[in-house]
Amino acid sequence: MLIDLHSHTNESDGSASPSQLIDIARRAQVGVLAITDHDTFAGYDLALPIATGAGIDLICGIEISAKLRGHSAHLLGYFIKSDQIGGLRDWIKELQSSRRERNARLTSRLRELGIDLTLEEAEARGRVNTGRPHFAEIIVEKGYATTIQEAFDKYLDEAAPGYVHRNEPEFFDAIQKIRRAGGIASLAHPVRLKCDLLSVLPQLREAGLNAIEAYHSDHTPADTKIYLSLAQQYGLLRTGGSDFHGATKPDLELGKGRGGNLEIPPDVVEQLRAASSSHGLHNV
Ligand code: AMP
Ligand code: FE
Ligand code: FE
Ligand code: ZN
Repeated sequence: MLIDLHSHTNESDGSASPSQLIDIARRAQVGVLAITDHDTFAGYDLALPIATGAGIDLICGIEISAKLRGHSAHLLGYFIKSDQIGGLRDWIKELQSSRRERNARLTSRLRELGIDLTLEEAEARGRVNTGRPHFAEIIVEKGYATTIQEAFDKYLDEAAPGYVHRNEPEFFDAIQKIRRAGGIASLAHPVRLKCDLLSVLPQLREAGLNAIEAYHSDHTPADTKIYLSLAQQYGLLRTGGSDFHGATKPDLELGKGRGGNLEIPPDVVEQLRAASSSHGLHNV
């Protein structure tokens, strides 16, 4: 039985619907799954009854983009308490409207760069949670780039000419929001961090960070080893997952990562669960 604590549905930028994702999990023998859609619980909400029926242990999760030392970084939230989720949902609505406003500016910018695309076309794909990967798909389909990665490199990446700023929350605020909702906050795919992890980690811990995503499809065995030792050194829990997006990122397999590079030991989940039900966690 496999464990995967990082996956996306088509309620954010994945391609599988919540029920399709549960079906993929069942066939891949993933017994413990967290759905961590960007800025929404909609995929989790829809998947929960289906997962229960399929005998899959589905963990409530979310992935939030936030500014850390001036650059966008991702924060995962897990085991958010159902009776405290309300406040978080309101806050997430604000994040969604900042995304929508950014998408309008992104469309104008891409049109200036000669790309014939409309906001309606992008929103037809991404609906309420349209993101840059949806724009990337259109850019590829219309022949302005040959792969999704090329669309990012040429147009959408933070360093590319099509990039427009989004009003993202501060990373430290995002940690607080997750913690106040009784959740566990984990630094997602630290390998992609644009600032120096060693210098920022003590501050993140101070702000209430509980965990670090030591296991991830983008991590080499050497990366994972480093993050595991940092977790131990800083008294942080470990999380891990494939970051499955379905056809959007076809090289990632649920529960197995990239070319089978993912293996999450069961005590990872046991420790997260124990921490989330322990009292001390709520006092932030
Ligand atoms: P958004 O939240 O709309 O700004 O889109 C962010 C998402 O785009 C991330 O979660 C990644 O899946 C993807 N992304 C961002 N930057 C890149 C990049 N340079 N290359 C590939 N994918 C990226
Ligand atoms: Fe994504
Ligand atoms: Fe991410
Ligand atoms: Zn993700």
